[in-house]
Amino acid sequence: MSDEPTRPGEAIQPRERGQLGHACEHAGCGKDAGWGFAKPTQASHWFCYEHRGEGERFL
Ligand SMILES: [Zn+2]
Repeated sequence: MSDEPTRPGEAIQPRERGQLGHACEHAGCGKDAGWGFAKPTQASHWFCYEHRGEGERFL
């Protein structure tokens, strides 16, 4: 029996894209979006601080 090298017990955890996971949907913006807007049955829309006002039409 040979000695097996000790493997680091490092679990690879899949991360969602980006630090916040969302990008602003405003055309040409693409900043990290911290404001999400969604009706209960629909996909959510995300906007940054500057463009968060645009998300209100999705509510
Ligand atoms: Zn934006």
